[in-house]
Amino acid sequence: MILELPRTSTYFDIRRFVWGYELYFECQGCMCEHFFTICYDGRRQGWEFNGDLDKPTFDPALRINRLYNKRGKLIRKRCFLKLIDGLITYSVHSDHILAGRTVALVPWQPDNRRVYANMDGHK
Ligand SMILES: [Zn+2]
Repeated sequence: MILELPRTSTYFDIRRFVWGYELYFECQGCMCEHFFTICYDGRRQGWEFNGDLDKPTFDPALRINRLYNKRGKLIRKRCFLKLIDGLITYSVHSDHILAGRTVALVPWQPDNRRVYANMDGHK
C-alpha cells in the first residue's frame, strides 16, 4: 500500500522526497522544528506512523542528539521525545525546560521555520 499525504496539515509541514516524507513539527522545548521520516510503502526504514495527521502517533521515540544554530555553533545537546495521539512527552534527559513534561502539538507556523540550521535525529 502506498501512503499518500497532503503537503501541509494543521501540525506538520510535509516534505516529499524520493522514498518517503519528512513530517516537520514545532518543538517548543527547542523552539525549532524537528521531523519524523516515514516511507511511502514501508519497504525502507522510517518511523511507524498511525496515518492520523490530527492525532499522530510515531514509533519509536525521536532522539535529537545535537542542534546547531545557523552559524554552526552547538546550542543544544539533547531532545528526546515520544509523540502519541498528538501529545509530545519529553524524556527527563532532554536538555530544555520541557524535560519530563507532556504537551500538545502546536499548529505549524511557516514563519517560525529554520531557526536552527541542522540537527541529527535518530530512533
Ligand atoms: Zn526539541
